[in-house]
Amino acid sequence: MIDFNALAQEYQTPLYVYDLDAMSSQFEALKTAFKGRKSLMAYAVKANSNLSVVKHFASLGAGADCVSIGEVRRALMAGIPKYKIIFSGVGKRDEEIREALQNDILYINVESDGELGRVDAIAAELGVQARISIRVNPNIDPKTHPYISTGLHANKFGVDLDVAKRMYIRAKNSSNLDPVGIHFHIGSQLTELDPIREAAEIVADLVRSLSVLDIELKFFDIGGGLGIRYKEETTIDPYDYAQAILGTLRGLDLTVVMEPGRFLTANAGHFLTRVLYEKRNGTKRFVVVDGAMNDLIRPSLYNAYHGIEAPFRTGECTEADIVGPVCESGDFLAKNYPLPQMEHNDLLVVHSAGAYGFGMGSNYNTRGRAAEVAVEGGKARLIRRRESFEDLIALEKEFLES
Ligand SMILES: *Cc1c(COP(=O)(O)O)cnc(C)c1O
Repeated sequence: MIDFNALAQEYQTPLYVYDLDAMSSQFEALKTAFKGRKSLMAYAVKANSNLSVVKHFASLGAGADCVSIGEVRRALMAGIPKYKIIFSGVGKRDEEIREALQNDILYINVESDGELGRVDAIAAELGVQARISIRVNPNIDPKTHPYISTGLHANKFGVDLDVAKRMYIRAKNSSNLDPVGIHFHIGSQLTELDPIREAAEIVADLVRSLSVLDIELKFFDIGGGLGIRYKEETTIDPYDYAQAILGTLRGLDLTVVMEPGRFLTANAGHFLTRVLYEKRNGTKRFVVVDGAMNDLIRPSLYNAYHGIEAPFRTGECTEADIVGPVCESGDFLAKNYPLPQMEHNDLLVVHSAGAYGFGMGSNYNTRGRAAEVAVEGGKARLIRRRESFEDLIALEKEFLES
């Protein structure tokens, strides 16, 4: 059990707390499900990109799935070997492609024919052969929130099957390109297995038809997206997930690459905030806390649900909106949430905050970002200090005089 009260006292609020042991358990559960098959778990760095978190996954043997060169740098700095790093993303700049190639990472996930052309040209310039994988958009409805659906033609991600095939042929015919993998990622917070299986089948069939053209791939990259339980969702069991994927790969000798993010970190993270005030506007009850949408934007952005606990209050609950100090009506952590009567300085623990929490934070309203603490083997340590006012103005101050 994590002593949230002690952590809030020592490190102040708002505060992110990550249970690294819980992240390890999730990692092992997924790894075990795929045992007996060559596989690589490439942690999706964007879910929680704190260097100490990435380093923790490096120590477990993870690779990294990165969506910017900044994330590639983080992964390298945190000790992920270059041969386990993948660079994905729909809009890579030339400098990013160049640096990825110079770093000799495992492969670049290419998302358009235009990008393939740029990778080809930059590889030629550098005199290297670029290992690439192509992100296929299988046009499958993943049945998740529209903002985190990525596998439909209506989404900006990947290329359709015909375009992918032409791109593989183009890659095979270029001396600067080495097509080694195929990639799909149909969405995030997936709780149904059927769309994943369907997508895998479509992509596996493409692998077979490429083989006929003498294009032999090594990596079958199934992306991330495994859902977690925020409230009462039934989630996909890692074992069933593995069986569904492996079932589509009969007769194919491919290394399965996974890019889990949320699954590994979400429920291992907690966001601590203290109550500032209780107030009522008419009959509507508000609990105003010191954490806000700039710290944790998921409720505002996706109407996401987070379980919230008031560990030191008992008594009858009534519904309240739990809101932050930011000047936006969309600034809330929960709506109509049952809470006992709260007092000034009472602690609230917002659960499932380990993925897409801190990383989506901002400095809106000139609020410094929260500190981050890791707990491992019962011991807590600071892994990012709270941002100060000086930090926030550091890049502007020098221009005041001009
Ligand atoms: C965001 C992302 C992931 C991770 O998604 P989760 O839902 O957090 O598992 C994996 N791969 C790609 C390409 C992504 O963009």
